[in-house]
Amino acid sequence: MRAITTVVAAAVIMVGLASSPAAAAPSSTTDVRLIAFNDFHGNLQPPAGSSGRVTLPDGTSVNAGGGAYLATHVKQLRAQVRNSVVLSAGDNVGASPLDSALFHDEPTMDLLNELGVSASVIGNHELDEGYRELQRMQFGGCHPTDGCQFHSSYPGVKFPLLGANITFDNGLPAALPFTVTVSGGVPIGVIGVTLKDLPLVVTPEAIKGLKFGDEVKAINQTSRLLDVLGIKTQVVLLHQGDNTEGGGPDDCRTVPGAATAIAKAASPSVDVIFTGHSHQQYNCVIDDPAGNPRTVIQGASFGRLLSVVDLKVDKHTRDVVRSATTAHNEIVTRDVTPDPAAKALVDEATTKAAPIANKPVGSITTDLVRAQPPSGESALGDVIADAQLASTASNSAQIAMTNPGGIRTDLTFAGSAAGEGDGVVTYGEAFAVQPFSNIMQTMTLTGAQLKTVLEQQWQPKPDGSVQVNMLQISSTLHYTWSQAAPVGSKVSNITVAGQPVTDAATYRVSVNNFIAAGGDGFAELKNGTDIAGGPVDLDAFTSYLTANPNLAPPAADRITVAP
Ligand SMILES: [Zn+2]
Repeated sequence: MRAITTVVAAAVIMVGLASSPAAAAPSSTTDVRLIAFNDFHGNLQPPAGSSGRVTLPDGTSVNAGGGAYLATHVKQLRAQVRNSVVLSAGDNVGASPLDSALFHDEPTMDLLNELGVSASVIGNHELDEGYRELQRMQFGGCHPTDGCQFHSSYPGVKFPLLGANITFDNGLPAALPFTVTVSGGVPIGVIGVTLKDLPLVVTPEAIKGLKFGDEVKAINQTSRLLDVLGIKTQVVLLHQGDNTEGGGPDDCRTVPGAATAIAKAASPSVDVIFTGHSHQQYNCVIDDPAGNPRTVIQGASFGRLLSVVDLKVDKHTRDVVRSATTAHNEIVTRDVTPDPAAKALVDEATTKAAPIANKPVGSITTDLVRAQPPSGESALGDVIADAQLASTASNSAQIAMTNPGGIRTDLTFAGSAAGEGDGVVTYGEAFAVQPFSNIMQTMTLTGAQLKTVLEQQWQPKPDGSVQVNMLQISSTLHYTWSQAAPVGSKVSNITVAGQPVTDAATYRVSVNNFIAAGGDGFAELKNGTDIAGGPVDLDAFTSYLTANPNLAPPAADRITVAP
């Protein structure tokens, strides 16, 4: 009876359509909205300081981010359309705030389930705690040493963590290369590819036995497979990105680098490339090898932006009508009602972490910032290097040096917790600055080696540009660098404890295990000798803050710039 009624109703509707002169032909395309974020890094609570702002095209900024606001914006974007898919371009976890990190980022993975994520690529930070921990993140189970601290069990994530270019040493795949998700009847092939240079940014022990292959090769091999399977709508989640020369969320002021090179070479079968890793905002169109325009987009980091790509898919070919693609980066503003379920999850994590997070560990007289003046020496960098030197005194350390990329946020006088503003530094705030749990190491370097390390702050890249990584140094080290001098001979006047450094003399130098293993391009540090282990970098930092209350920014006189 019901079937007959439906047929009759359908017939009436069809007659109605046919008799209406204004009726349009039935659409030959299906609309599918892709919604992606990248480099969330466990930012459950709205990130503070510049990490919680989005720069607009006019240079002003707006507050953005926070897991509960992110959930609201995702739901709003999904409600506007019939078909949508949520994706992540990697680094969901790792280097995350205490309320996520304390629970091995389980609350963040729960939030991603809540957001309805369909797939994520494996970023470098998904491997911070090793391959077994990555598998636990995926499939669930309690942490082998810490157990289940957040909830009584951890179920894993409901979406695949992809890595088409991640293999074991024997060449076998170590991660799923792609997944297929169906939206609006359209099968969408999602390929995940992480940066081939991942070993440069992850501690060697964590990725022992794994290999990271060429991004383009992996994309194209996987894309061909999807072609064979008849899956014409193809999306790449690429955990690699370019830098920009500023601009708003939808500008394309990128400095062409690894991501642009990959985008130019990746198979024309791929219709959209979501990028990540560089924490930049851009919305670009780069022609594929067949000359067709293709969206290449990134949404800053920490859940501040959602990259929204609206596709029109031909119903017959099931392929994307590339010329009809529109894309924008949606700002995760905080003027919306926080999503209740996401807020409950976020608040639960914060509440459970609070007794540890709110413990005072020191105090400061004014903001200690990581922003570098032209010399490269930042106030916060000075303090951290001094802390690392103090913490390794028992290793006879004479100087300490740390990589700027490991300093994740500023220490602000106002503080991040409500009711602060008294210069008190809490454990949670110190944690946010040094979240990697790197181990300090002290090694012996000759004066010549020390000079080489300092010269390695400037790294020539294949495209002719120079990557600059200014080490933050303890008060016992001074030197001058020349803007005009060529790469390899920029550094002069090096002194340790006021005495000129000579090539043959030896020095005890403390660094974290990340750069000790050659991370950030400091290859010379791998040649250090007589290595002694030290404390976790965060413990070095909090001990120093406790021992030096009312800490003020040190005089910025360690690094001098010459013309
Ligand atoms: Zn990354």
